This record gives sequence, structure tokens and C-alpha cells, in this order.
Amino acid sequence: MALSGLEIFKLLPKTNCKKCGQPTCLAFAMALAQKKVGLDQCPDASEQARTSLAAAAAPPMRLITFGAGPAACKTGQETVLFRHEEKFHSPTIIALALPDDLAPEALAARAKTIQAFAFERVGQAMPIGAVAVIHRSGDAGRFAAAADFAKGLCKALILVTDSPDAAKAALAHVKDSRPLLCAATDATAAAMAALAKDAKCPLVARAATPEALAALTEKLKAAGCEDLVLWLDTPDAWAGMEGLTLERQLALKKNFRPLGYPTIAFATDGSPEDQAAAASALVCKFAGIVVVETVEPWALLAILTTQQNIYTDPQKPVQVEPKLYAVGEAGPDSPVLFTTNFSLTYYTVEGDVEASRIPAWILCVDTEGTSVLTAYSGDKLNEKTVAKAMKAANLETVVRHRKLIIPGYVAVMSGKLEEETGWEILVGPRESSVIPRYLQEVWRS
Ligand code: SF4
Repeated sequence: MALSGLEIFKLLPKTNCKKCGQPTCLAFAMALAQKKVGLDQCPDASEQARTSLAAAAAPPMRLITFGAGPAACKTGQETVLFRHEEKFHSPTIIALALPDDLAPEALAARAKTIQAFAFERVGQAMPIGAVAVIHRSGDAGRFAAAADFAKGLCKALILVTDSPDAAKAALAHVKDSRPLLCAATDATAAAMAALAKDAKCPLVARAATPEALAALTEKLKAAGCEDLVLWLDTPDAWAGMEGLTLERQLALKKNFRPLGYPTIAFATDGSPEDQAAAASALVCKFAGIVVVETVEPWALLAILTTQQNIYTDPQKPVQVEPKLYAVGEAGPDSPVLFTTNFSLTYYTVEGDVEASRIPAWILCVDTEGTSVLTAYSGDKLNEKTVAKAMKAANLETVVRHRKLIIPGYVAVMSGKLEEETGWEILVGPRESSVIPRYLQEVWRS
């Protein structure tokens, strides 16, 4: 049962010492009730308070780890329903299906494809987190062999089977890699819980309704399994989203412990387009792990792009290091353009400069990760900040000419910038996509 802020306050030292970073014990109690701080941030809390507050201090959603070493994946520990309330903590893990009924050559080809994926966007790697070995053959030995084979892919593993016998056979090969065992139902709860406990791996609870799922997690917990993941087994991804939303609300807003676990969902049906759409929606609302069957790069890129956007901390814009970057074999006569250090802006400009096939310099000005217009209107991008960046990059020693191309959207600063730097200011295009034509036609002429 969750405690109110006032109930928590009664258990605190009430010295208002501020060691926790809060102005008063009451403020700390309120923040603790909302799960925004941890009790360990108050060094003076008594043992009695720690015991009494253990439930209130526990995160509303448990953090679950599966996989081992560098392949380990974390899911859960979310504290808010909406990203703007704070941030989301554990990016949805995208898992690719490896069905055990594939012929050996097809299995090897799929594994090779999975290993070859290496996506990067705005300077960040976007990994495929896990491989879900799916038991479709009906043969426990074949499932175990597929799991053993998947172990060589060095990804976190999810063993998807309803059969305790097949799970036991697979775990005999891969339990050292701490796979996620998926899944226990009401009928198999005891057998699957015993296997998960023995292998020390987390376990998925599978049921058709949130009520049944809550009853099942209590049963698994009573059997000794603490690390659980929820699988709401709905007819399609869209019904699943409704259920996932309800689960999230109950866990975070009502502190309903039986559903205080991360979730797994499957978008393995239909065309690659269907899977990309369903998986992207599930990433938004609120799947911790999404399994897809397609290995079409464009479909995976759409899903991973959604994941990257949703899980970016809204209070920390993705930034690149503010400095001078060479695109191609830039030399002393190459053009110099400036832009801001907001990753999306920088990488868009970089891609367009690269597309021009004219080697160039990009001066990346520190605007605390904001875009050109936002930075200009917030006075983070002005003649002083650009001149400072030029000086820091020793631009005068890098190029022989004294010409600086500025974004068309801030043409208004060209006069002041010319006065500040003594350089000739060329107003570039407003849209980054016009940069190739600009460099080819204006710079070269
Ligand atoms: Fe109160 Fe503890 Fe915070 Fe000090 S550290 S203000 S005692 S809650």
C-alpha cells in the first residue's frame, strides 16, 4: 500500500538539514511519495523508517536484466506515464525472432542478417537488443538446438515457448547467458517458476487480461520468482496497446504491485509494413520489449527511430561536440559553413554537405543543443558566440579565404557578424537540403 507524503514525513528525522538536496523534510517526503527521489538520499533516515518505508521507496516498476556481459539488456524502472513529466528510463528493447522451424541454411542466413545490422542515427548507435528464439517446431530438441545456435550471436536471448520440457532442454544449453524465459501461464506456472529459479533467469508471465496477469504474477512471486515481465496476450497489437496503457497506469498511478513489472509484446504478424507500424505503436505505448519477425532494414530502421525519439531525455537535447568538423578532404580553400550543436541539425547539414561532393568545413557552434532558430531567438546564437567558436577552432589558420556561409534563417545577423569577425558573410540556404546545389552553383562560381 502506497504511503502519502504526510505519512512518510512522520517517519523522517524532521531536521530540514537539506543533505538530500530538498529544502525540507516535507518536500523530500512529497518527492518520495511521487517516486521522484529514493530513500537512500536521506542519510539520516533511521532503520525503523527504512523498514517502514521500504514499500514506498521501491520503484513502481521493477528493473529487470537479462542477457549477460556486454549483451545484457535492462527493461523497466519507469516512473512516469508521459515523457515530459520527467523522462523514460529504459529504451524499448527491439528483439528479432529466430523461429526454430527454419531449415538449417535459413537459420544460418537469418543469423547472419541479424549480426550484420548496424544502424546509426544522429551520431548514436541504434542496436538490435535481443534475439527471441521461438518454439514453433513442436520439438524440444530442435528448440534447444536453435537456442544453442542463437547463443553464438552474442545477443541477449529470449526463449519463447509454452512447453516446460522445451524450456528445460534449451536452458541446459544457454542458462549461463541468463535468457528471459517466455512464458509461464496459469497452467504452467509451477513448472516454469521452478525452471526460472534454477537457472536464475527472469520469467515472463502470460495471460489474456490484466486481472489474470495480476493473479499470475502473485502466484509466481509466491513460487519464488521476483524478476518478472508481463505479456498481455491480446488478439492484436492494437488491443495490446490498450492493455499496456492500463497496466502502466495501474502500476505507476495506483502503485499496484502485481502489475509493477516491465512488459513484452509481439509484432510478428502480417507484412513488414504491418509489423513496423504495430511495433512502433507498441514502443510508444508502453512495451518494454517488442519482438518482430521482419528483418527488412527499412522496417527496423522505422521502429528504432521511433524508439530513439521516444526515449530521448526531453530535458537534454541530443548534442554533438561543438568544434570544427571536416567533411571529406577539406583543405585551406574549402568552404566553411556554421550550424548549431543540436545533433539533428548538425547531422542533417553534414549529410547535405557530403551529398554536394565538395569537401567543406562545418563549424559547430555551442548552442546547448538547440536548433538554429531556437538558439537565435534565445540569444544563444549571435555574432559573439559564432566569433568565439571561430576563434576556438583557429579558423584563420585552417583556411586561406575569409568567407563564412551562415544559415539562411539567420541572415539577419550577417551585418553584425561581419563587423565582429571581419569575414565576408555569405547567406546560405534556409533549408539544409538546398546546400548541395548552393555549394555547387554559388560557392564554386
Ligand atoms: Fe530531512 Fe533527511 Fe532531507 Fe535532511 S536529508 S532534509 S533529514 S529528508
